[in-house]
Amino acid sequence: MNYKLYIGKISGIKIFIHWTFVLLIAWIVYNDIKAGLETIDILWSVTFVFSIFGCVTLHELGHSLTAQRYHIKTRDITLLPIGGVASLESIPEKPKEELFVALAGPAVNIVIALALLPFVHWPEALEGLGQVGGSNFLLSLLSVNLTLAVFNMIPAFPMDGGRVLRALLSYKMDRVKATRIAAGIGQILALGFVILGFYGNPFLVFIGVFIFLGAQAETKHLKSRALISGVTLRDVMMREVPLLEGSQTIRDAAQQLLDGQNKTFVVMSAGKPVGTLSHLEIVRALGEQGENASIESAMDKNLLYLDAELSLENGLRELQRSKKPLALISFQNTLLGVVDVQNVTEFLLIRSAKQK
Ligand SMILES: [Zn+2]
Repeated sequence: MNYKLYIGKISGIKIFIHWTFVLLIAWIVYNDIKAGLETIDILWSVTFVFSIFGCVTLHELGHSLTAQRYHIKTRDITLLPIGGVASLESIPEKPKEELFVALAGPAVNIVIALALLPFVHWPEALEGLGQVGGSNFLLSLLSVNLTLAVFNMIPAFPMDGGRVLRALLSYKMDRVKATRIAAGIGQILALGFVILGFYGNPFLVFIGVFIFLGAQAETKHLKSRALISGVTLRDVMMREVPLLEGSQTIRDAAQQLLDGQNKTFVVMSAGKPVGTLSHLEIVRALGEQGENASIESAMDKNLLYLDAELSLENGLRELQRSKKPLALISFQNTLLGVVDVQNVTEFLLIRSAKQK
């Protein structure tokens, strides 16, 4: 369901189109044919959709490139039929940074609209309104950009306006409170959209639900962040490191896997860590090389070391980025312990239980 097509890279940011986009194009073409449009008009409306998504991409790039200025990376930009999503690796926490990152998107649409303005041939453009064609193409694109700017400035998460609102509130109060207020306003607006939608445009119901869920997700996200704030890898790590010796065989590793709860082992040689061996690697080695194979031939020699003083949030991000099952936690070149996703989860469960 998550299949997406890679279309290119701008300033190091990969851009994808979600497969459901094809459905959108098919739906438009189908409706155009049903309405009895000529081929040239169908081509115009498809070109129009692609142009809109070009503008949406530029909008998302506005967010991403502004975030880059504050050293926040963007994982990728994905275009969905309902709009674009730029997944930033983190959300800027300083009010000023969040404000500029949020405003940059709608600002791009305003700039596009202004740039199109001199090229619009007014009398012709106004004539054929309703159906996009050669004469009113630019005017239609201009008004779409204005709509995008206004729509995104609705002060409700996950719209950009919600972030602008929270950033402005954050100047006056702490972030959790600012989020709660901004999310509350968003949910009231969302209900308003749903009610309006039932009386008129069903699309508003859809937007309302979207905003309502967005507000909920934002509050939840912030709560889970509050849970890990101030926590370092030293607090979370397992001090008892499950060890194997490089000279042992896969049979020994399999036995240790069965004997205990550990799923990933640190492989030592001459008193130093030289690799890691996960349960998947053990199983694979058993199948491919047999149980007499050496651990050293099956292990992952690429170790991920993280500093014990690193925050849990950054540590988790590094761990996920590396796609490794476990990270070695060291301080001043001494191995102190290991961290994997499972023991982080346990730590969070214990901490949230304590807070209650
Ligand atoms: Zn935006």
